[in-house]
Amino acid sequence: MGEPYPKLSAHALTRTFGRGAGAVDALGPLDLSVAPGEFVCLVGPSGCGKSTLLRIAAGLLRPSAGTLEIRTSTLRPAAMIFQDYGIYDWKTVRANVRFGLDIQRVPRREANARADEWLTRMGLADFADAYPAALSGGMRQRVAIARALAVEPELLLMDEPFAALDAQLRWILQEELLELTQTTRGTTLFITHSLEEAIVLGDRVLVMSARPGRIIAEHRPPFPRPRSGDIRDTPEFTSLKSELWDLLRKEAVLA
Ligand code: ADP
Ligand code: MG
Repeated sequence: MGEPYPKLSAHALTRTFGRGAGAVDALGPLDLSVAPGEFVCLVGPSGCGKSTLLRIAAGLLRPSAGTLEIRTSTLRPAAMIFQDYGIYDWKTVRANVRFGLDIQRVPRREANARADEWLTRMGLADFADAYPAALSGGMRQRVAIARALAVEPELLLMDEPFAALDAQLRWILQEELLELTQTTRGTTLFITHSLEEAIVLGDRVLVMSARPGRIIAEHRPPFPRPRSGDIRDTPEFTSLKSELWDLLRKEAVLA
């Protein structure tokens, strides 16, 4: 038996920015539940409230109404990867990856070993002592991913982590993420504006409406795990993509 409770659950969650005539209804009301081990992808038009939702989940922002609850069973934290990396230029690559472990007061020797392990997995072993300025955008992004995964989060929150990368690197990192989450059975809430990415990665793909974002559709891509990017070549992939695209296009017009 798995754990019975969702890792994340939101009920009638809404967020408004500002007051009075200038108020912006950014999100909701939205209901969402992410089960342990599940990989949920959220897609929606630009400005529909996706980042707002993730910031609330990460505890960086309060809801205006409704609730969002994260239920972790250990002291391991939820980790978040922002689209804009958020790595520190004055720390070495290894120290960046070790950052979350330092906060958890993991002893230095063990923290270094775990950081190096993740750097190796991300193909960055040779850059452990380098500073981020020496890295390409894709490598910096992999540092951010290694840093988030090194703390072995129970819940991984990712906000368009691959958006700034070129198509080829994006594919490579999608494969790596598939492999990682299929091995570790972590729980992931992944935001993307790419339907392909959502279908490749997700156990479930949720489509959000134009602002204020609500969930208007839910699909389970019919591809068993372990899964690889090769599913892109199947007719099921193409038909699900065009179905979701029709939905999203209507919402994009409203946005
Ligand atoms: P998405 O990530 O889906 O593109 P966001 O969650 O970033 O959308 O934003 C949703 C809406 O809320 C947008 O209209 C945005 O301008 C607005 N918004 C987001 N953050 C703030 C803020 N701190 N203050 C005012 N408005 C905000
Ligand atoms: Mg966003």
